[in-house]
Amino acid sequence: MSSTLFTPGAITMLAGPCSIEDVEQMETVGATLENLGLHWIRGGAFKPRTSPYSFQGLGEEGLAMMQDVGNLHHLKTLTEVMSSSAIPLIDAYADAIQIGTRNMSNFSLLRDVGIAAAKSHKPVLFKRGMSATIDEWLSACEYITMGGSSDVMLCERGLRTFETSTRFTLDISAVPVIHSRSLLPICVDVSHPAGTAIFVPDLAKAAVAAGADAIMIEIHPNPAKAKSDGPQQLTMVQFEKLMGELRQIAAAIGKEIV
Ligand code: PEP
Ligand code: MN
Repeated sequence: MSSTLFTPGAITMLAGPCSIEDVEQMETVGATLENLGLHWIRGGAFKPRTSPYSFQGLGEEGLAMMQDVGNLHHLKTLTEVMSSSAIPLIDAYADAIQIGTRNMSNFSLLRDVGIAAAKSHKPVLFKRGMSATIDEWLSACEYITMGGSSDVMLCERGLRTFETSTRFTLDISAVPVIHSRSLLPICVDVSHPAGTAIFVPDLAKAAVAAGADAIMIEIHPNPAKAKSDGPQQLTMVQFEKLMGELRQIAAAIGKEIV
């Protein structure tokens, strides 16, 4: 198993629920991912919610749940860090650190994550700000890498535009642009731009075809009961079907999905 988010010649699947909610949920997701031969599970324990009254995540309890499920199903774990003070906790439980769209310009957090990730040799998934240009994103990324952490993967996750048919406008062009401008690999999160599960499969196929190095997809055993982002999460059955389709597209461009 690769210790990094990026495997040359492959597309890394980063799937899991929006929020870690309970053991049963994580166990169902973990077993599905292992059965599909995948190596990573994602889940939020500290959630950047638009409203402070919405579910904020289970914190350390959630991180422990995901770590246990990861150990049981041979999966590495990815979770978001929202503040510098939470870095030691995230570092203790997770195999990779995500920086979310709302923190792309939180330069002190980026510096601190860069230093911590360099020490722990953990990869960082760095999401694009929802209103940031590619220049601003790449420049911000240097706050992470200057701390000595070079194992960074960029992640396009959709932009705020005038369009309201989707939750965010997925900038699929970011994939070839990043490949032409940077040596860093790029992930495409297809769930947050979709906002609705029915759009997720087509966006995921587009991301594979465009040359993404990783795909992020939110999945949940019972999306209707999800504590965050329910409408956009795929069920296990929907995800298994999509994986079969994505593997065919990946094979057509000489890649496998891991
Ligand atoms: C997430 O991946 O859980 C998330 C909150 O994404 P974003 O930062 O892109 O909104
Ligand atoms: Mn989410």
